[in-house]
Amino acid sequence: MNIQMLCCGYIRVSETVPFGNAINLKNTARQLTEPERSRVTLPVFSYLIEHPRGPILVDGGWCRAVSPAGVYDPKAAASLLTPALAALYQPWVPEGMTVSEQLSARGLRPEDLSCAVLTHLDPDHVSGLRDLKGLEKIILPEDEYFWSCRTVYKARQPRSLWQDLPIERVYYRGSPLGPNRWAIDLFGDESVVLVNLPGHTDGQAGVLVRSGGRFVLLCADAAFSPRNWRQGLTPGYGFSRAMQLRSLHWIAEQERDPGCAAILCSHDAAITPQTIAW
Ligand SMILES: [Zn+2]
Repeated sequence: MNIQMLCCGYIRVSETVPFGNAINLKNTARQLTEPERSRVTLPVFSYLIEHPRGPILVDGGWCRAVSPAGVYDPKAAASLLTPALAALYQPWVPEGMTVSEQLSARGLRPEDLSCAVLTHLDPDHVSGLRDLKGLEKIILPEDEYFWSCRTVYKARQPRSLWQDLPIERVYYRGSPLGPNRWAIDLFGDESVVLVNLPGHTDGQAGVLVRSGGRFVLLCADAAFSPRNWRQGLTPGYGFSRAMQLRSLHWIAEQERDPGCAAILCSHDAAITPQTIAW
């Protein structure tokens, strides 16, 4: 099994986003107004799993429309997202780095993918899937879709970005995995399992990819860096700190498992894109 990490753009955010250790008005205000000099640049990773049943894409990064010239374009970002989300993320995706451009450089067409998996509906994970015309199926946990009606998610996850996508909603079921003991076994063989890791959103999934007795955990935005679970330091952007802590605790347990080959966060600035093979 192998997983290619695809860096599909960047965000330039307040450091309270990855390490704020609280979800409150003070951190939210900082995230919207943080001056340029004290922001940090974080990558936006998607993943391509080379699975025996065909390639599986996990998340889509930024779409081309958010950054037409490959640089941060406040006007384009504000019109695609909202002015507030543009101010929060300050997103850009250099030429050749959208998921669509990177798949095409590998000779892969969207219809060649077995499916895409969406960990949650935030725009830095969903918008790049809009560029994949011909993609047939996007798997999303029903719980993530269900709560998108909540006011806080309406503001975070503009519906226009994902309502027309070929999303197939799948229910979490009882499982020994995850802080909520809720998971979706994609093929019924434990090779790709979506594990509910709540806190960043209610329905967010981490993706556990297993082969030959070892596994890689793609923990999405449950953590932004190993610092989050090793130091019990919670990200300052999310929905519930109590749920974030439960998810971080479970991730820390996975790291201690001798079968753990790697744990990858969607926005870990310390990691360079690479292929994880095991
Ligand atoms: Zn994210």
